[in-house]
Amino acid sequence: MNKPKIVVLGAGYAGLTATRKLAQKLSPEEAEIVLINKHNYHYEATWLHEVAAGTINHNQARYMISDVVNPKRVRLIYDTVVEVKTEDQRVVLENSEVEYDYLVFALGFVTNTFGIKGMEDNAFFIQDIDSARIIREHIEYKFAQYSSGESTDESDLTVLVGGGGFTGIEFVGELAEKIPELCKKYDIPRNKARIINVEAAPSILPVFEEDLVAYAKKSLEDRGVEFRIGAAISECTEEGFIVGEDNELIKAGTSVWTGGVMGSPVLGKSGFEVFRGKVNVDADLRLPGSENVFIIGDCSWTMDKETGKPYPPTGQLATQEGAHVAANIKNALYGLPLTDFVFDNKGTVASLGISDGIGNILNGVKLQGKPAAAMKKVVDDRTLLVVGGPKALLKKGKYRPF
Ligand code: FAD
Ligand code: NAD
Repeated sequence: MNKPKIVVLGAGYAGLTATRKLAQKLSPEEAEIVLINKHNYHYEATWLHEVAAGTINHNQARYMISDVVNPKRVRLIYDTVVEVKTEDQRVVLENSEVEYDYLVFALGFVTNTFGIKGMEDNAFFIQDIDSARIIREHIEYKFAQYSSGESTDESDLTVLVGGGGFTGIEFVGELAEKIPELCKKYDIPRNKARIINVEAAPSILPVFEEDLVAYAKKSLEDRGVEFRIGAAISECTEEGFIVGEDNELIKAGTSVWTGGVMGSPVLGKSGFEVFRGKVNVDADLRLPGSENVFIIGDCSWTMDKETGKPYPPTGQLATQEGAHVAANIKNALYGLPLTDFVFDNKGTVASLGISDGIGNILNGVKLQGKPAAAMKKVVDDRTLLVVGGPKALLKKGKYRPF
């Protein structure tokens, strides 16, 4: 009998964890494992706001997949997934095709513009290493142009961030560190450079309690971040965002949209039923009606049975789902029942720059300031260890013992 072939799509938190766990749980005689990813590296999507601001180098936020997955055990294919054909158990890639017996679909998120006019063409997105890197370069280019006299438009020194959820707020926190540095480097008075966050809802970061939100807002304002709260963005032009009921144009040299995410467009292309950008999966993480296709991480909604609502899509959730899928595939191979996924929420922390943050951990312990920032680095390092193993932690960890 042929060995079962397990194909994992995507080497993000979900896919890389699933692959490494499968390789640990199954011997080469029990199953063939294939991992397909667009690039030869895994990146820390949760650090992309730092790459975009330039507070860390993009190389710190990525590591080679072949450093943490044994290529002799797992066949590594670096190619772009175009479509999944479930009817004949086949994945179409840009350059070839791969058949599977079991499929783990973990292609992650892309930015969702909700069809807002001009957003695709004129705004920058924080969605992978390259898109984040371009933002850092663009901001610095605008500062250099102004400094050399090539531009005399002071709004070129404005960075406009649309969306005051986690990504938008963590990004302005990093900008509050980086912009003063750029002002010094290009000899520009600090008060000429602006960082503006625009949020449609009545509050930024609605996940947190009011006192933590108030702390975050004041801390960022004290470091020069301006807020336009309760102001919806209706359009993005080459000049900036059109905001609020009176259609005010806020001009900026750099406009970044952080207003939301959705699952990979490959879901829709493959004919999966998509709700608000993702697939509703069964409690065992399988595509409804399918025996052998699992959809995890930011590509699926997984229901919290206690609240009846889906868990918010996070790296923490994606990692736990990756581990669960590996266990369920092993069960399936041996004809054992699959188990339901239950999320073990370890808490939430948002950074507000290098040494500030807010958080809720361990069922209700609130953190703010330096302890929250330290906790965020602990979480970042723990993720490196859990997803990539000791080698990833030693090479890319934020706390370095030597
Ligand atoms: P991803 O991390 O998106 O990985 C998908 C992988 O698939 C990537 O390697 C990608 O290159 C690859 N891929 C995509 N399309 C294709 C294709 N067509 N073909 C081949 N390969 C492909 N969550 C937290 O829990 N804590 C945080 O602090 C946190 N901070 C965040 C900060 C930012 C700036 C952002 C944007 C998100 C943050 N999140 C955080 C959310 C978290 O990053 C996501 O929930 C998580 O990345 C989802 O993991 P994933 O494995 O599903 O997908
Ligand atoms: P989000 O959906 O959480 O936030 C988007 C924000 O943009 C919302 O506050 C929304 O009201 C606002 N918005 C939407 N349309 C708008 C408009 N037209 N004008 C102005 N504002 C508008 O998206 P995100 O911040 O990118 O986060 C995506 C996911 O990643 C979330 O599930 C989040 O939990 C996770 N994440 C977690 C962390 C963390 O744990 N530290 C960090 C980043 C992201």
